[in-house]
Amino acid sequence: MSGWEANVRKVTPYIPGEQPDDADMIKLNTNENPYPPSPSASAVLGGMNGGRMRLYPDPDVRELKAALAEHFGIEPGQVFVGVGSDDVLATAFLTFFNGKKPVLFPDVTYSFYEVWAELFGIPYERPMLDDNFRIKKEDYLRENGGIVFPNPNAPTGVEMPLTDIEEIVAGNPGSVVIVDEAYVDFGAQSALPLIDKYDNLLVVQTFSKSRSMAGMRIGYAMGNKRLIGFLNDVRNSFNSYTMNRPAIAMGTAAVRDDDYFRMICQKIIDTRENTAVQLRRLGFHFEESKANFIFAAHRSVPAADLMQELRKRHIYVRYFPKGRTQNYLRITIGTPEQMERLFAALKEILGEEQA
Ligand code: PMP
Repeated sequence: MSGWEANVRKVTPYIPGEQPDDADMIKLNTNENPYPPSPSASAVLGGMNGGRMRLYPDPDVRELKAALAEHFGIEPGQVFVGVGSDDVLATAFLTFFNGKKPVLFPDVTYSFYEVWAELFGIPYERPMLDDNFRIKKEDYLRENGGIVFPNPNAPTGVEMPLTDIEEIVAGNPGSVVIVDEAYVDFGAQSALPLIDKYDNLLVVQTFSKSRSMAGMRIGYAMGNKRLIGFLNDVRNSFNSYTMNRPAIAMGTAAVRDDDYFRMICQKIIDTRENTAVQLRRLGFHFEESKANFIFAAHRSVPAADLMQELRKRHIYVRYFPKGRTQNYLRITIGTPEQMERLFAALKEILGEEQA
Protein backbone atom coordinates (compact mmCIF):
# COMPACT_ATOMS: atom_id res chain seq x y z
CA MET A 1 0.00 0.00 0.00
CA SER A 2 1.41 3.43 -0.93
CA GLY A 3 1.93 5.82 1.96
CA TRP A 4 -0.74 8.23 0.75
CA GLU A 5 -3.41 5.55 0.64
CA ALA A 6 -3.96 5.80 4.38
CA ASN A 7 -5.32 9.31 3.76
CA VAL A 8 -7.70 8.40 0.97
CA ARG A 9 -11.45 8.60 1.59
CA LYS A 10 -12.54 5.10 0.65
CA VAL A 11 -16.14 4.68 -0.37
CA THR A 12 -18.42 2.12 -1.97
CA PRO A 13 -20.11 4.10 -4.73
CA TYR A 14 -23.68 3.96 -5.91
CA ILE A 15 -23.98 1.83 -9.04
CA PRO A 16 -26.14 3.54 -11.62
CA GLY A 17 -28.28 1.47 -13.98
CA GLU A 18 -26.60 0.36 -17.17
CA GLN A 19 -26.62 2.90 -20.01
CA PRO A 20 -26.17 0.63 -23.04
CA ASP A 21 -25.51 1.98 -26.50
CA ASP A 22 -27.57 -0.41 -28.55
CA ALA A 23 -29.30 1.02 -31.62
CA ASP A 24 -32.15 -1.46 -31.49
CA MET A 25 -32.78 -1.50 -27.74
CA ILE A 26 -35.89 -1.11 -25.66
CA LYS A 27 -34.59 0.65 -22.59
CA LEU A 28 -36.77 -0.02 -19.56
CA ASN A 29 -34.01 -0.08 -16.94
CA THR A 30 -33.50 3.45 -15.55
CA ASN A 31 -36.98 4.98 -15.35
CA GLU A 32 -36.51 7.50 -18.12
CA ASN A 33 -39.52 8.88 -19.94
CA PRO A 34 -39.98 7.35 -23.42
CA TYR A 35 -41.40 10.59 -24.82
CA PRO A 36 -39.38 13.68 -25.77
CA PRO A 37 -39.37 16.84 -23.61
CA SER A 38 -41.89 19.62 -24.27
CA PRO A 39 -41.40 20.94 -27.84
CA SER A 40 -41.22 24.48 -26.47
CA ALA A 41 -38.40 23.44 -24.12
CA SER A 42 -36.49 21.81 -26.97
CA ALA A 43 -37.05 24.93 -29.08
CA VAL A 44 -35.47 27.14 -26.41
CA LEU A 45 -32.44 24.92 -26.35
CA GLY A 46 -32.15 24.85 -30.15
CA GLY A 47 -32.40 28.62 -30.31
CA MET A 48 -29.77 29.32 -27.66
CA ASN A 49 -27.09 31.72 -28.70
CA GLY A 50 -23.78 29.95 -28.25
CA GLY A 51 -22.03 33.28 -27.71
CA ARG A 52 -23.60 33.64 -24.30
CA MET A 53 -21.83 30.50 -23.17
CA ARG A 54 -18.72 32.57 -22.47
CA LEU A 55 -20.63 34.15 -19.59
CA TYR A 56 -21.22 32.44 -16.29
CA PRO A 57 -24.82 31.44 -15.63
CA ASP A 58 -26.86 33.14 -12.90
CA PRO A 59 -25.58 31.59 -9.66
CA ASP A 60 -29.00 32.19 -8.09
CA VAL A 61 -30.85 30.52 -10.99
CA ARG A 62 -33.58 33.13 -10.61
CA GLU A 63 -35.40 32.44 -13.87
CA LEU A 64 -35.94 28.74 -13.18
CA LYS A 65 -36.77 29.28 -9.51
CA ALA A 66 -39.32 31.93 -10.46
CA ALA A 67 -40.93 29.58 -13.00
CA LEU A 68 -41.10 26.75 -10.46
CA ALA A 69 -42.43 29.06 -7.74
CA GLU A 70 -45.16 30.35 -10.04
CA HIS A 71 -46.07 26.85 -11.14
CA PHE A 72 -46.43 25.58 -7.57
CA GLY A 73 -47.90 28.76 -6.09
CA ILE A 74 -45.00 29.30 -3.67
CA GLU A 75 -42.26 31.93 -3.36
CA PRO A 76 -38.91 31.74 -5.19
CA GLY A 77 -37.17 31.77 -1.80
CA GLN A 78 -38.84 28.43 -1.06
CA VAL A 79 -37.10 26.74 -4.01
CA PHE A 80 -33.60 25.24 -4.28
CA VAL A 81 -32.31 23.82 -7.57
CA GLY A 82 -29.50 21.41 -8.36
CA VAL A 83 -27.93 19.14 -10.94
CA GLY A 84 -30.58 16.43 -10.85
CA SER A 85 -32.29 15.46 -7.63
CA ASP A 86 -29.23 13.37 -6.76
CA ASP A 87 -27.31 16.62 -6.32
CA VAL A 88 -30.19 18.17 -4.36
CA LEU A 89 -30.48 15.12 -2.09
CA ALA A 90 -26.72 14.88 -1.51
CA THR A 91 -26.67 18.58 -0.57
CA ALA A 92 -29.63 18.03 1.75
CA PHE A 93 -27.92 15.08 3.47
CA LEU A 94 -24.82 17.19 3.99
CA THR A 95 -26.85 20.13 5.27
CA PHE A 96 -29.51 18.59 7.48
CA PHE A 97 -28.18 15.23 8.67
CA ASN A 98 -25.40 16.58 10.78
CA GLY A 99 -26.29 15.18 14.19
CA LYS A 100 -25.22 12.13 16.16
CA LYS A 101 -28.53 10.28 16.15
CA PRO A 102 -29.25 7.87 13.30
CA VAL A 103 -30.98 9.04 10.17
CA LEU A 104 -33.85 6.74 9.20
CA PHE A 105 -34.71 5.39 5.76
CA PRO A 106 -36.37 2.11 4.69
CA ASP A 107 -34.41 -1.13 4.14
CA VAL A 108 -35.75 -1.32 0.61
CA THR A 109 -35.41 2.09 -0.97
CA TYR A 110 -33.27 4.24 -3.27
CA SER A 111 -29.79 2.80 -2.72
CA PHE A 112 -28.06 6.16 -2.97
CA TYR A 113 -29.26 7.11 0.53
CA GLU A 114 -26.95 4.59 2.12
CA VAL A 115 -24.06 5.69 -0.10
CA TRP A 116 -24.41 9.34 0.94
CA ALA A 117 -24.77 8.39 4.60
CA GLU A 118 -21.53 6.40 4.35
CA LEU A 119 -19.75 9.11 2.37
CA PHE A 120 -20.64 11.83 4.85
CA GLY A 121 -20.20 9.66 7.95
CA ILE A 122 -23.87 9.98 8.93
CA PRO A 123 -25.15 7.28 11.31
CA TYR A 124 -28.27 5.56 9.96
CA GLU A 125 -30.81 2.82 10.57
CA ARG A 126 -33.03 1.14 8.05
CA PRO A 127 -36.47 0.07 9.36
CA MET A 128 -37.94 -2.80 7.35
CA LEU A 129 -40.86 -2.40 4.99
CA ASP A 130 -43.75 -4.72 5.83
CA ASP A 131 -44.45 -7.85 3.79
CA ASN A 132 -46.42 -5.83 1.25
CA PHE A 133 -43.53 -3.38 0.78
CA ARG A 134 -45.25 -0.68 2.80
CA ILE A 135 -43.39 1.85 4.91
CA LYS A 136 -44.60 1.51 8.53
CA LYS A 137 -45.07 5.02 9.87
CA GLU A 138 -44.55 3.86 13.49
CA ASP A 139 -40.92 3.07 12.62
CA TYR A 140 -40.34 6.77 12.02
CA LEU A 141 -41.86 8.01 15.24
CA ARG A 142 -38.84 7.36 17.42
CA GLU A 143 -35.63 9.25 18.14
CA ASN A 144 -33.67 10.04 15.01
CA GLY A 145 -31.31 12.53 13.39
CA GLY A 146 -33.41 12.95 10.25
CA ILE A 147 -35.70 11.01 7.93
CA VAL A 148 -35.70 10.42 4.19
CA PHE A 149 -37.87 8.25 1.95
CA PRO A 150 -39.19 8.41 -1.58
CA ASN A 151 -42.91 8.70 -2.19
CA PRO A 152 -43.80 6.63 -4.14
CA ASN A 153 -41.00 4.43 -2.81
CA ALA A 154 -38.33 3.14 -5.19
CA PRO A 155 -37.90 0.50 -6.47
CA THR A 156 -41.29 -0.74 -5.20
CA GLY A 157 -43.53 1.99 -6.67
CA VAL A 158 -45.70 1.86 -3.53
CA GLU A 159 -47.28 5.12 -2.37
CA MET A 160 -47.48 6.15 1.27
CA PRO A 161 -50.73 7.98 2.16
CA LEU A 162 -50.25 11.69 2.74
CA THR A 163 -51.89 11.37 6.15
CA ASP A 164 -49.08 8.99 7.23
CA ILE A 165 -46.46 11.37 5.86
CA GLU A 166 -48.02 14.24 7.79
CA GLU A 167 -47.93 12.18 10.99
CA ILE A 168 -44.23 11.51 10.48
CA VAL A 169 -43.46 15.18 9.77
CA ALA A 170 -45.61 16.40 12.69
CA GLY A 171 -44.15 13.78 15.01
CA ASN A 172 -40.55 14.84 14.34
CA PRO A 173 -40.29 18.58 14.98
CA GLY A 174 -36.63 18.08 15.89
CA SER A 175 -35.62 16.49 12.56
CA VAL A 176 -35.72 17.41 8.92
CA VAL A 177 -37.94 15.03 6.95
CA ILE A 178 -37.04 14.74 3.26
CA VAL A 179 -39.73 13.37 0.96
CA ASP A 180 -38.13 12.37 -2.34
CA GLU A 181 -40.89 12.79 -4.92
CA ALA A 182 -38.93 11.69 -8.00
CA TYR A 183 -41.98 9.71 -9.19
CA VAL A 184 -44.87 11.61 -7.62
CA ASP A 185 -46.25 12.98 -10.90
CA PHE A 186 -47.39 9.54 -12.04
CA GLY A 187 -50.40 9.47 -9.76
CA ALA A 188 -49.27 9.89 -6.13
CA GLN A 189 -50.15 12.76 -3.80
CA SER A 190 -47.46 15.36 -3.19
CA ALA A 191 -46.53 16.56 0.29
CA LEU A 192 -45.95 20.06 -1.09
CA PRO A 193 -49.12 21.56 0.47
CA LEU A 194 -47.58 20.80 3.90
CA ILE A 195 -44.44 22.93 3.52
CA ASP A 196 -46.06 26.07 4.89
CA LYS A 197 -47.43 24.19 7.88
CA TYR A 198 -44.23 22.35 8.88
CA ASP A 199 -40.82 24.01 8.90
CA ASN A 200 -39.02 20.63 8.99
CA LEU A 201 -40.34 19.29 5.67
CA LEU A 202 -38.30 19.29 2.46
CA VAL A 203 -39.96 18.05 -0.74
CA VAL A 204 -37.58 17.03 -3.54
CA GLN A 205 -38.59 16.58 -7.19
CA THR A 206 -36.85 16.11 -10.55
CA PHE A 207 -37.09 16.90 -14.25
CA SER A 208 -35.65 13.47 -15.07
CA LYS A 209 -38.84 11.40 -15.11
CA SER A 210 -42.13 13.24 -15.67
CA ARG A 211 -40.50 16.03 -17.69
CA SER A 212 -38.42 13.73 -19.92
CA MET A 213 -35.18 15.57 -19.16
CA ALA A 214 -32.90 13.03 -17.46
CA GLY A 215 -30.09 14.14 -19.78
CA MET A 216 -30.31 17.78 -18.70
CA ARG A 217 -29.84 17.04 -14.98
CA ILE A 218 -32.26 19.29 -13.10
CA GLY A 219 -33.71 18.64 -9.65
CA TYR A 220 -35.24 20.92 -7.04
CA ALA A 221 -36.31 21.08 -3.45
CA MET A 222 -39.15 23.02 -1.86
CA GLY A 223 -39.52 23.95 1.77
CA ASN A 224 -39.68 26.94 4.06
CA LYS A 225 -37.22 29.75 3.42
CA ARG A 226 -34.93 28.94 6.32
CA LEU A 227 -34.44 25.35 5.16
CA ILE A 228 -33.76 26.53 1.62
CA GLY A 229 -31.35 29.16 2.92
CA PHE A 230 -29.26 26.50 4.68
CA LEU A 231 -29.14 24.45 1.48
CA ASN A 232 -27.96 27.48 -0.49
CA ASP A 233 -25.24 28.14 2.09
CA VAL A 234 -23.86 24.61 1.78
CA ARG A 235 -24.04 24.66 -2.01
CA ASN A 236 -22.28 28.01 -2.15
CA SER A 237 -19.53 26.62 0.05
CA PHE A 238 -18.88 23.94 -2.53
CA ASN A 239 -19.69 25.18 -6.03
CA SER A 240 -21.71 28.29 -6.78
CA TYR A 241 -22.37 27.68 -10.50
CA THR A 242 -24.02 24.30 -10.52
CA MET A 243 -26.74 25.05 -13.07
CA ASN A 244 -25.59 25.72 -16.63
CA ARG A 245 -27.31 28.08 -19.05
CA PRO A 246 -28.96 25.44 -21.25
CA ALA A 247 -30.40 23.70 -18.16
CA ILE A 248 -31.83 26.94 -16.78
CA ALA A 249 -33.40 27.96 -20.11
CA MET A 250 -34.78 24.56 -21.00
CA GLY A 251 -36.02 23.85 -17.48
CA THR A 252 -37.87 27.16 -17.39
CA ALA A 253 -39.59 26.50 -20.72
CA ALA A 254 -40.53 22.97 -19.64
CA VAL A 255 -42.21 24.14 -16.43
CA ARG A 256 -44.24 26.67 -18.39
CA ASP A 257 -45.64 23.98 -20.71
CA ASP A 258 -48.08 22.46 -18.27
CA ASP A 259 -50.42 20.98 -20.91
CA TYR A 260 -47.65 18.87 -22.41
CA PHE A 261 -46.51 17.76 -18.95
CA ARG A 262 -50.00 16.60 -17.99
CA MET A 263 -50.53 14.84 -21.29
CA ILE A 264 -47.26 12.87 -21.00
CA CYS A 265 -47.93 11.89 -17.37
CA GLN A 266 -51.38 10.63 -18.32
CA LYS A 267 -49.96 8.57 -21.19
CA ILE A 268 -47.48 6.90 -18.84
CA ILE A 269 -50.21 6.23 -16.27
CA ASP A 270 -52.48 4.65 -18.92
CA THR A 271 -49.64 2.49 -20.25
CA ARG A 272 -48.73 1.46 -16.70
CA GLU A 273 -52.28 0.32 -15.96
CA ASN A 274 -52.37 -1.76 -19.15
CA THR A 275 -48.90 -3.15 -18.40
CA ALA A 276 -50.11 -4.24 -14.97
CA VAL A 277 -52.97 -6.21 -16.52
CA GLN A 278 -50.68 -7.87 -19.07
CA LEU A 279 -47.97 -8.73 -16.54
CA ARG A 280 -50.51 -10.37 -14.24
CA ARG A 281 -51.74 -12.47 -17.15
CA LEU A 282 -48.15 -13.57 -17.71
CA GLY A 283 -47.86 -14.81 -14.13
CA PHE A 284 -46.21 -11.84 -12.42
CA HIS A 285 -47.23 -10.45 -9.05
CA PHE A 286 -46.55 -6.98 -7.65
CA GLU A 287 -47.93 -4.23 -5.45
CA GLU A 288 -49.84 -1.38 -7.07
CA SER A 289 -47.39 1.12 -8.53
CA LYS A 290 -47.87 4.88 -8.57
CA ALA A 291 -44.56 5.41 -10.39
CA ASN A 292 -43.35 5.06 -13.98
CA PHE A 293 -42.20 1.51 -13.33
CA ILE A 294 -43.56 -1.77 -11.98
CA PHE A 295 -41.59 -3.91 -9.53
CA ALA A 296 -42.64 -7.44 -10.32
CA ALA A 297 -41.73 -11.04 -9.53
CA HIS A 298 -42.74 -14.05 -11.60
CA ARG A 299 -44.48 -16.98 -9.90
CA SER A 300 -42.02 -19.56 -11.28
CA VAL A 301 -39.14 -18.12 -13.29
CA PRO A 302 -36.32 -16.37 -11.37
CA ALA A 303 -35.80 -12.68 -12.10
CA ALA A 304 -32.12 -13.17 -12.94
CA ASP A 305 -33.02 -15.59 -15.75
CA LEU A 306 -35.73 -13.33 -17.10
CA MET A 307 -33.38 -10.38 -17.12
CA GLN A 308 -30.75 -12.32 -19.08
CA GLU A 309 -33.25 -13.60 -21.61
CA LEU A 310 -34.75 -10.15 -22.14
CA ARG A 311 -31.29 -8.74 -22.60
CA LYS A 312 -30.58 -11.21 -25.39
CA ARG A 313 -33.61 -9.69 -27.08
CA HIS A 314 -32.28 -6.13 -26.55
CA ILE A 315 -34.79 -5.33 -23.84
CA TYR A 316 -33.18 -3.88 -20.73
CA VAL A 317 -34.87 -3.96 -17.33
CA ARG A 318 -33.35 -3.43 -13.88
CA TYR A 319 -32.51 -6.23 -11.50
CA PHE A 320 -31.21 -5.76 -7.93
CA PRO A 321 -29.53 -9.02 -6.94
CA LYS A 322 -29.72 -8.49 -3.17
CA GLY A 323 -31.84 -9.46 -0.19
CA ARG A 324 -35.56 -9.81 -0.34
CA THR A 325 -35.93 -8.04 -3.68
CA GLN A 326 -33.74 -10.45 -5.60
CA ASN A 327 -36.60 -12.13 -7.36
CA TYR A 328 -38.00 -8.86 -8.68
CA LEU A 329 -37.53 -6.97 -11.91
CA ARG A 330 -38.07 -3.24 -12.09
CA ILE A 331 -39.64 -2.54 -15.43
CA THR A 332 -39.84 1.09 -16.57
CA ILE A 333 -43.00 2.06 -18.44
CA GLY A 334 -42.15 2.82 -22.06
CA THR A 335 -44.42 3.58 -25.00
CA PRO A 336 -47.34 1.20 -25.67
CA GLU A 337 -45.38 -0.20 -28.64
CA GLN A 338 -42.32 -0.89 -26.49
CA MET A 339 -44.47 -2.61 -23.89
CA GLU A 340 -46.05 -4.80 -26.57
CA ARG A 341 -42.57 -5.93 -27.57
CA LEU A 342 -41.81 -6.66 -23.94
CA PHE A 343 -44.98 -8.77 -23.57
CA ALA A 344 -44.17 -10.69 -26.77
CA ALA A 345 -40.63 -11.37 -25.54
CA LEU A 346 -41.88 -12.50 -22.13
CA LYS A 347 -44.40 -14.87 -23.74
CA GLU A 348 -41.62 -16.39 -25.77
CA ILE A 349 -39.31 -16.73 -22.75
CA LEU A 350 -41.95 -18.07 -20.39
CA GLY A 351 -43.50 -20.45 -22.89
CA GLU A 352 -47.23 -20.97 -23.06
CA GLU A 353 -47.47 -23.18 -19.96
CA GLN A 354 -45.85 -20.69 -17.56
CA ALA A 355 -47.56 -17.62 -18.89
N1 PMP B 1 -34.64 9.67 -6.18
C1 PMP B 1 -35.07 8.48 -6.61
C2 PMP B 1 -35.99 7.70 -5.74
C3 PMP B 1 -34.65 7.97 -7.84
O1 PMP B 1 -35.05 6.76 -8.25
C4 PMP B 1 -33.78 8.73 -8.65
C5 PMP B 1 -33.34 8.21 -10.00
N2 PMP B 1 -32.16 7.47 -9.96
C6 PMP B 1 -33.34 9.97 -8.15
C7 PMP B 1 -33.80 10.40 -6.92
C8 PMP B 1 -32.36 10.81 -8.88
O2 PMP B 1 -32.79 11.26 -10.11
P1 PMP B 1 -32.15 12.54 -10.81
O3 PMP B 1 -30.81 12.79 -10.20
O4 PMP B 1 -32.07 12.16 -12.25
O5 PMP B 1 -33.10 13.67 -10.55
